[in-house]
Amino acid sequence: MKKLIVKLWATSMLLLCLCGGAFAQMPPVIPIWDANKVTLGLHKVSKDVYAIIPTTAETETTKGIPQATTGGFIVGERGVLLIEVMLTKRLYDQEVKLIRSVTDKPIIYAVNTSDHGDHCFGNYLLPESTLIIQNEFAKDNLAKNYDGIKSFMVGLFGSGRGIENTVYRPADIVIPKNNNLKIDMGAGKIIEMMNVGTAQSPADLFAWMPNQKVFWAGNPFIAESPAIPWLFDGFFLEPAANLKKVYDFLPGDAIVIPGHGRITNKAGIKYTIDYVQELKTEVEAAVAKGLTLEQTKEAVKMKDYDKGYVLFNWLHYNFNLPNAYKDISANKKN
Ligand SMILES: [Zn+2]
Repeated sequence: MKKLIVKLWATSMLLLCLCGGAFAQMPPVIPIWDANKVTLGLHKVSKDVYAIIPTTAETETTKGIPQATTGGFIVGERGVLLIEVMLTKRLYDQEVKLIRSVTDKPIIYAVNTSDHGDHCFGNYLLPESTLIIQNEFAKDNLAKNYDGIKSFMVGLFGSGRGIENTVYRPADIVIPKNNNLKIDMGAGKIIEMMNVGTAQSPADLFAWMPNQKVFWAGNPFIAESPAIPWLFDGFFLEPAANLKKVYDFLPGDAIVIPGHGRITNKAGIKYTIDYVQELKTEVEAAVAKGLTLEQTKEAVKMKDYDKGYVLFNWLHYNFNLPNAYKDISANKKN
């Protein structure tokens, strides 16, 4: 399924490039963000707990400008647990520099929260002794489709950014669907990796520190308003349910590190929940009336949620709405 989606992506992007389609499936700007220009910054969020955030995120997130991947790390008694290894060597090297600015301890674990390359393509650069942790589906998919995912990433983030040079490295530890893994880094620093099923893609993993109340949300929660979710992996109803489940699980005072934005809190990711819920309600009504997909696109513009996110039209009309329509129509038939 995933392979098919990647193939369709590659094919449709090629066709659209060739034909210059008016309502193309290509994002309005390529690269969506430029891995050759991103600078990553360090933010201490708790004792021995750090977030890694693109330096532009503080001013650009609320302007609706797409941001590069976030990450973070925890300094434990025996070593470092790193969250996200980034898209390219240039960005991975920046992460290592940030780690080395606070500790000389080795990176003993690396967690990827998605099988999209901006979260996992740096794996091949990790020391050989580092144990890589992924969602089980993520490992299977990367093993089968690494080259397809690579073309998909080059399609969105451009050639000549070092994406082509990455090499597949398999994960050491996988977490099956509906399972969690807890790692005790010592001194109350417990980190829980949660595979709740599809929240953006079937490869998602959330990272949560219950004592420090720090949450790495990954791609399912891209950023606060005006960003809307990227439900472009072919799923809607399962993500809709799981986003809500994760949101409800978070305490009100959690520190939230979204996948592609500045550090926020629970209220900051509510926009994603509200957008998805509104989309679900409106598409259900459209399907109940028997509207076609094209008629639904006309009827469900959700202008109230179009608050200046650069990718709103691209995501809403090409992916979020069609995937909602597909899942809700299929449900109606059953
Ligand atoms: Zn991402």
